[in-house]
Amino acid sequence: MENTKVRTCSNCEVGHLEKDTRDIKITRQTRSAVVSNVHGFFCNNCNEIEFDDTTDSATRYAEAGDKLVLANRAEAAATLKVQRKKLKLTQAQASTLTGGGHNAFSRYENGISPPMPAVVNLFKLLDKHPDMLRELVS
Ligand SMILES: [Zn+2]
Repeated sequence: MENTKVRTCSNCEVGHLEKDTRDIKITRQTRSAVVSNVHGFFCNNCNEIEFDDTTDSATRYAEAGDKLVLANRAEAAATLKVQRKKLKLTQAQASTLTGGGHNAFSRYENGISPPMPAVVNLFKLLDKHPDMLRELVS
């Protein structure tokens, strides 16, 4: 045998890590991508990967994940902007409605910071029931 030393996964503490090279599908919210030729130690019980740091696998994996997160954030920002405009609210009015500071919606719509899920959910509801806006603003 080439390698008889079996390492236990530090994530689940049940599985064993197996050295391999795999194509890994990563998913962030609604988007996914495949990172090919990931070198590392793969748990046979959970999805944990200990990357082989003599390769660029960890960097490529992280970059692919970041790209998905940024694409999701850009889509969420665009959706929020459409919903706000349909409600005929200025960014300042929308910010007053949801809190987060006077320029919160500018930051959300420009992708500078992601909105809290409560903001996303409120605008999703108001998009379907715009008449309810009258109950929130006077
Ligand atoms: Zn594990």
